[in-house]
Amino acid sequence: MGTVKRTTARLVQRKVVVCGRIIMYDIDLTNAVAEIKRLKARIVALQVPEGMKKRAYQIAEDIENNASAEVMLVAEPCFGACDVPSSLFDMVDAVVHVGHSPIPSLRFTKPVIFVPARSRIPVTEQLKKAVGLLVEPVGVLATSQHLEELDDAIEGLESMGMKVKIGEGDSRISHVGEILGCNYTTATSIAEDVNSYLLIGSGTFHGLGVHLSTGKKVVVLDPNLEEPREIEQEKAKILRQRHAAIERAEKARSFGIIIGEKVGQRRLRRARELRKLIRWKRKDASLILMDKFDPEKLKTLGFDAYVSTACPRIAIDDVAMYDRPLLTPHELEIVLGVRRWDDYTFDQMTEEEF
Ligand code: SF4
Repeated sequence: MGTVKRTTARLVQRKVVVCGRIIMYDIDLTNAVAEIKRLKARIVALQVPEGMKKRAYQIAEDIENNASAEVMLVAEPCFGACDVPSSLFDMVDAVVHVGHSPIPSLRFTKPVIFVPARSRIPVTEQLKKAVGLLVEPVGVLATSQHLEELDDAIEGLESMGMKVKIGEGDSRISHVGEILGCNYTTATSIAEDVNSYLLIGSGTFHGLGVHLSTGKKVVVLDPNLEEPREIEQEKAKILRQRHAAIERAEKARSFGIIIGEKVGQRRLRRARELRKLIRWKRKDASLILMDKFDPEKLKTLGFDAYVSTACPRIAIDDVAMYDRPLLTPHELEIVLGVRRWDDYTFDQMTEEEF
């Protein structure tokens, strides 16, 4: 257990429009500029998350002006620290990756410089509303963009007399209390010590992932909204969709097991285990390599059902895009009768599966 250290270096503020609102993010390029100079990098690729793309040219200009390096802005979508295309390394001396925390267990063939983009929205008013929904001790969690507010939430809850815990993650996690859509170990590591979680982040996916992994109540505090939400209210729809996909896949004779080509998603070992399991059940299975997921590619391949060992979010978030069932590894185990529906959780990535 521990607390998140606040940054004291120079901060550059950037406006980003999220859901029609202008959000201020702190983007500190001081370390990145120093690192580019130290590496004597002449050509640098710049990756930013989708929501920041329209302002990325300002970040590129800041780097070019201060580090005297040529910057190439990467247009391909970038959803996480796992998502640094290897092809970039043929063209550039280093990659600057904005908006996600590093995944410590990942190794790249050229330097990748991670630059956090943290929002700075006061959470005090929502915290007061959240207190009535929480049961202490409370595990406090945040997604990468909200690690600044994680500190504020811990201080706020403690000042209101609540007992708070914060968990360490495994080798895919670089900050205490941080969760990824593919890793909830900061939550599971303290599951026995807490009675509920406060998660600072947006959307339903992360909160539901924590709830399913721990069985505990989760309250989501999205700094861009007015009210905190209890995640249990939102889980029925997603679980119905997953149950339907599992039922359809039970009729499948052939399965395509997709391995993501992105450096941080290549779960080859896990994919081979799943292939063995499918063949043991006397069904056909093949491994498939894929970078960008596309329903048309899957139609062309013609399997009855697919299993994604790449980013766990794809099967859940994009369910409506696929006409064949696209399952997570846990869901395949339910289809094949080696896991019970009652033990349903979202997929998580561990280093041993790569
Ligand atoms: S695999 Fe998915 S959830 Fe995990 S870091 Fe990459 S984009 Fe995020």
